[in-house]
Amino acid sequence: MGVPQTSSLLGMDREEIAVLVSEAGEPGYRTKQIMDAVYRQRVESPAEISTLPQEFRERLAESGVGVGAAKIEKKFSSVDGTVRYLIVFADGQSVETVWMPEGDGGEAGDGSEAGVEAESSGISISGAEAWASFVATGGAAGSRPLSNQNRRSSSSGRSTICISSQVGCAVDCQFCLTALLGVKRNLSAGEIVGQVCALLKDQGVSPPEDRINLVFMGMGEPFLNYDNFIKAARLLVEGVGIAERRMTVSTAGIVPRIRDFGGETIRPKLAISLNASNDALRTRLMPLNKKWNLEMLLAAAREFPLRTREWITFEYVLLGGVNDLPENAREVAEMLRGLRCKVNLIALNPGPGIDFMTPSAERVMAFQDILRGAGIPAFVRRPRGRDIYAACGQLKRTVEVATSPELQLQSISPKREG
Ligand code: SAH
Repeated sequence: MGVPQTSSLLGMDREEIAVLVSEAGEPGYRTKQIMDAVYRQRVESPAEISTLPQEFRERLAESGVGVGAAKIEKKFSSVDGTVRYLIVFADGQSVETVWMPEGDGGEAGDGSEAGVEAESSGISISGAEAWASFVATGGAAGSRPLSNQNRRSSSSGRSTICISSQVGCAVDCQFCLTALLGVKRNLSAGEIVGQVCALLKDQGVSPPEDRINLVFMGMGEPFLNYDNFIKAARLLVEGVGIAERRMTVSTAGIVPRIRDFGGETIRPKLAISLNASNDALRTRLMPLNKKWNLEMLLAAAREFPLRTREWITFEYVLLGGVNDLPENAREVAEMLRGLRCKVNLIALNPGPGIDFMTPSAERVMAFQDILRGAGIPAFVRRPRGRDIYAACGQLKRTVEVATSPELQLQSISPKREG
């Protein structure tokens, strides 16, 4: 009760908190105390910041400073351990955030340590095995032999959190459920970081002791909410303490932002949703290809300044009979030749309103074999939490959003540009 909150600590960086501290006439070291409380201890109100004098805590609250923590409204648990969270923000808008314990979490093969560890420990993420067992279990388990699979998250775990960047999405990919929502609004940096804080708290884990990977692959297009996304990434590194190399952002291909992203000093790794082997096909599946076609996209990828031991990941959703033919695989191999990259193949995760088919396991493996034969590392992303609609392209809030015409116009949706 009491004073309505006017500003949230969550989402503020060190400089912004320093201003707040100095304006309050407090000593400089309070900045670190507040940073630690918000991002490391993940307090939910100024009253909980026990390192601050009681009087300062009260003054903060009275002046309308809150933490702005994200609230978990619902949790859905999959038989494979994946948990889909419905997270609600102050204005009642909500997004989904996914917790994937002990898994490749979708980042397998993109150079993150989780993927590399899985490979080197002999756990095949080449997909054949995973896919076969997925098919064998009727898609419910998506599991494969993994000795430590049932281990609860612990300091030796390597779980992955899949974060949303917008409420809904404006990009209109024809195979993605989130696209059906349209876009309602961007998330603030605090709301993006808040998803991570809420899940870490709920799971009882804490980086860096617990190894957490982050993928910006949930609802929304991170590069259409670029400033908030990049600020959130910085806060996750500097505040929460998750290493850059443990984070991957996926874009549908917003070319100018890929270029900006390459110039950032602190940045996650880059994944690009390719999804088609030629322009005609890609324009049909991802209308934004009219604006930034494959030539432009691949030029940006070729010029992208990779760091030591860094690779670009290309994601490719396989749609039965549409883009999964041997000919498509050969075109992809040709297109990516010479690029320091990996390909993550994702068999379509089905959903209501999606008019495509999940390809057979044989098709998936044949596609992978052609890429590998051409010298391109290719992996099959293990479907996670399909039974609870938590897998790639299945995030669609329980309560649907009303589309905001204003945001639709601002954002890039070539379909509407004619
Ligand atoms: N907007 C960003 C990040 C979110 S999508 C992007 O487009 O990259 C994360 C990944 O899921 C993308 O590679 C996307 O192509 C894939 N995807 C979308 N819908 C899917 C579906 N129904 N089945 C499997 N993968 C899907």
